[in-house]
Amino acid sequence: MADKKQNKRNNKNYDDDYNPRFKRQRKKVCVLCSDKNFELDYKNADQLKKFVNEKGKILPRRTTGACAKHQRDITTAVKRARHIAILPYTQN
Ligand SMILES: [Zn+2]
Repeated sequence: MADKKQNKRNNKNYDDDYNPRFKRQRKKVCVLCSDKNFELDYKNADQLKKFVNEKGKILPRRTTGACAKHQRDITTAVKRARHIAILPYTQN
């Protein structure tokens, strides 16, 4: 019983650097902000495919790394592309 309590306390003082639950991630940089020449085009399917998964869903910001403003642009572009049947709404 006493040992159990001791273990619990030890786990709480777990060193952050060794805790696998809080792996330090490199901060993602927005592709559209970092590349000035990058022009988002809703008619360019190859470009937009980077922002959708294999099911055709738009990837979240935590995956694309885009900033709020550009994520909105991406979303609009993908939706436009879907409307003109360049990108699929869904696959399989
Ligand atoms: Zn951006």
